[in-house]
Parts: sequence; structure tokens; C-alpha cells
Amino acid sequence: MRVAVVGSGFAGSLLARVLAVQGHDVVLLERGTHPRFAIGESSTPLANLTLERLARRYGLDDCYHLAAHGRWVARFPELRRGLKRGFTFYRHHAGRPFALDGIRPERLLVAASPNDHVADNHWLRADVDHHFVRAAAQAGVEYRDRTDVTTDGLKQLRVDFVVDASGPGGFLARQLGIPSALQRMQTKAGLLFSHFDGARLVSDVVPGLPAGPYPDDWAAVHHIIDEGWMYSLRFDHGVTSAGFLLRDEVSDPPEQMWRSLLRRYPTIGALFCDATPLMPIAYRPRIQHRLTRAAGNGWAMLPHAFAFVDPLFSTGIAWSLRAIERLASRFEHGMPTEHDLVRYDALLSAEADQIDWLVAGAYRAMTRFDLFAAQAMIYFAAVSFAEVRQRIGPDENVAWSGFLGVGDPELRGLPHASLRRLRRVRSAADRREFVKWVSKSIARRNVCGLANPAAHNSYPVDLDVLTRRHAVLGMSREALVSALPALRGFS
Ligand SMILES: Cc1cc2nc3c(=O)[nH]c(=O)nc-3n(C[C@H](O)[C@H](O)[C@H](O)COP(=O)(O)OP(=O)(O)OC[C@H]3O[C@@H](n4cnc5c(N)ncnc54)[C@H](O)[C@@H]3O)c2cc1C
Repeated sequence: MRVAVVGSGFAGSLLARVLAVQGHDVVLLERGTHPRFAIGESSTPLANLTLERLARRYGLDDCYHLAAHGRWVARFPELRRGLKRGFTFYRHHAGRPFALDGIRPERLLVAASPNDHVADNHWLRADVDHHFVRAAAQAGVEYRDRTDVTTDGLKQLRVDFVVDASGPGGFLARQLGIPSALQRMQTKAGLLFSHFDGARLVSDVVPGLPAGPYPDDWAAVHHIIDEGWMYSLRFDHGVTSAGFLLRDEVSDPPEQMWRSLLRRYPTIGALFCDATPLMPIAYRPRIQHRLTRAAGNGWAMLPHAFAFVDPLFSTGIAWSLRAIERLASRFEHGMPTEHDLVRYDALLSAEADQIDWLVAGAYRAMTRFDLFAAQAMIYFAAVSFAEVRQRIGPDENVAWSGFLGVGDPELRGLPHASLRRLRRVRSAADRREFVKWVSKSIARRNVCGLANPAAHNSYPVDLDVLTRRHAVLGMSREALVSALPALRGFS
């Protein structure tokens, strides 16, 4: 088969390479050139599991090494990345330095790995995407950069199938006139961002921060504020990727908005007061996009071309890799059939909704940290259950299982139900009720002891807890204990 992949972010390049390994004749078309700046950097355990599966199935040795921090550093020290041990959240209040209140700590730490060696990574996308495009070319993909493709141009290439990996570039949306479905999306936020040199560590700025399950800063750090939230991702070479996601549209110059937010939140101010932006701070008014279709006869989109919700919970890389795995599995037998494409389209659509509901609920919950921490538990329950299942029971069909609880009778309705409930929360009693409801609703998928008041918002990777919860996985204690070696990412 002759396949065109439009867009050479990591996702387009990786899929193009897999298709070439399968023996297809692949052309990869990029309108820009590499290396180039890109955003979307923080990986997760589910993303790494998919990378490992792709590595095994298609003989992609580099993907195996890039799936864990220790292996990455040992094998590809020249590809810049940052250690990510988990997800850190703080709630800041205007005009007050961040401080821990012992009774209701507005800090949430959820470990994703037990040590640095098996930990996740933030990907410095300029390096990683460049690596993937070079690897694609080495695998036999015909790579053409600085190419602005048109429908006529594609016809001349005489391809049997087109994959749109152009991200928000929206290549096929324009070529095929696919309508937007943005009105369907509940999440709405603008982005103020850059990369910075010289950002300080939370542990240096907040006195008396008690030790958590991992060092707070070596994580995807989320600072929740009245206006939305801020991400801060530290790379090992000292650069920090940071950005504010702001609910309301703003019209001041970006640099001025940045300074005013640093003044309003003194601890964030202390973290970034001496930091130098490595490129001008930029503002994008609304970063969400969503289309009405993700696949059709002879074409398919990767998730970032189809929809994007928000960086909260770092869903983008894992979702993209899952979609690559799905499409790759269909190309093993020639071309995806009409049935495959209908299924692919339906899954991406359900998954975009699921992410949107979860994130929109989290925005709604940001006013109160107890609500937010409870809402976050839905995400962590869904991904940790999927991760443990994938580690202990290899499943041929895992690629086609839904992302973030889609298709799971216990989880599929939860983000939507929770958004509806959050919209009705008014009083302290409503908040307590919501927290209880989440705890009950995730119980049958809660393999990690989440939503436990005794944990005080601090969740290490704990195999004892997992072992005690064997029934959640439908296993006896003995069966789970003997499966523990398969949880190698955990130990
Ligand atoms: C602010 C922000 C933060 C994010 N943070 C995270 C995170 O922490 N973790 C996470 O998992 N995900 C995150 N994401 C999502 C992540 O960015 C995407 O999932 C990821 O970039 C998808 O990669 P991709 O290769 O599909 O697309 P992209 O990275 O968007 O690459 C698309 C490529 O297509 C090219 N292109 C565009 N139009 C054309 C055209 N017409 N012809 C040819 N080439 C074209 C572009 O030049 C580019 O090289 C974030 C996204 C945003 C916006």
C-alpha cells in the first residue's frame, strides 16, 4: 500500500515508521522542518506502556529505551528530557504565599513510578520529534519537509490512504471540509506560555514542605489559581516549560499578563521572578479544537488532528500513541476496512468527549481543593486500573480498548455524571457529598487506594495496597502476588 502521512510530529513520524516496517510504501509530508519547537511534553505510564508494546511488536529498539527515564538517559543522553515521577498539584490564593494547612492540605501528590529509573519523562519535543523523523527516514519512509500539501498534490502522489497527523494544523479538515464540533466542547481556556531558564524549585521557595512520595518538583507540577491553572515541567538540563491556562479571554500583551499573574500569586512569583523566557511569552486565546469526524473511506486522523482539550492530566501523548497502535494493527493486514474506520472514528469521538467532561469537571472543581482532588481521583483511578491490567495481563486487543474508561461499564459514565454533579455543588455539605460519591463511584476500579482521607492527598506507588486490593482486579491474593514481577514498572 502507498500511504501518505501529513505532519511529522512524533506521532506522524512514528506511525509512518511502523507502516514502513510493515512493508508499506510511506511518504511523510511536513510543512515545516526539524528541529522545531513544539508543545505537549509530559508523558505518562500508559504512554510508555504503548511505546514498549510498539517497540516489541515492530522491533523499535529506541521506543523501548525512551519509555523509562533511566533507559532513556543511558541510551539517548543527547535527547533532552525531564524526570517525571508523578503529578503534583497546589492550590494558590491571590495575595497569599502558598502554605500547607495541616488539616486540609491544598497539595496533592500522586506518584506514577517508584523510582527514577523506571519513571516517566517530559519530552523536549524539539529533540524527540527530530529523533522520530530521522528514525522514520532510516526505516525507509520518504520524508519531504517544507511541503505545503494540497488535494491535487496528494492525488499526484497516488496514495491509497492518507493519515492526517497535522495536529491543530487541520490538514484534512480543510481539504475535505470537515465541520468543527467545537460547540460540543465544555472546556474553554486560553494559553500563556514559554520555555524558561532559571525557574526556582518549589522545595526552595516554600519553607517546611514535608517530604512526599517523590520530590515535588520532579513531576508535572500544576498550580491551581482562581483564573485557571499553570503547568510547570522541569527538564533535566534546567529549562522549564511553563504556561497558564486561563478560563477568560484576556487582551493585555502576553508579557504584561505573565507579570501580573506572578504578582498576584506570590509563590508562583517567587518561582519565576528570576526566570528568563527562552522565546517571547505567547498567548493563544482558545486552544481547544474538535472536528465532527476522525476517519472515513481512505483516511484517518491521529487524535491531535481530530481534537484537543487541555494539558490537564497529560492525556495527549498517551492518546496519540494508542491511536497509532490501533491504526498500525489494521495496516498489518493490508488496509483498514470500512468497519475498522467506523470503529476508530467512534472510539476517538467517545474519548474526546470523555477527556473533555473530565477536564471541564476539573475546571469547575478548581474553586475548592477538596472538590478538585476528588475529581482528579477519577482520572487516577481510570489510568492506574488500566496500567495495572495492561502490565499483568497482556491482551492482544488492548489497543482497541477505550482510553480513560471509555467502554468500561464502571467508568464510562463517570466523567459526565461528575461534571453534572459539580455544576450543582453549592454548599460545604454538597462538597462533602461529592467527595463521598467519587470515592464510592471509583471503588470497583480503585486498585491503588485512592480517595483515602487517611492518605492526606499523598499517594506513593505501594504494592502492598495493590496486593490488598486484588479483588478489584478479579484475582485472588496469591494470583496477584505471583503476577507482581510483571509489574516491573512499579518496582
Ligand atoms: C499547551 C499544551 C500542552 C500540552 N501538554 C501536554 C502534556 O503535558 N502531555 C501530553 O501528553 N500532551 C500534551 N499536549 C498534547 C500534545 O501536544 C499532543 O498530543 C501532541 O503534540 C500530538 O503530537 P502530533 O505529532 O500528533 O501533533 P503535533 O505535535 O501537533 O505535530 C503536527 C505536525 O504537523 C505539521 N503540520 C501541520 N499542518 C501541516 C500541513 N498542512 N502539512 C504538513 N504538515 C503540517 C506541523 O508542522 C507539526 O510538525 C499539550 C498540548 C498543548 C496545546
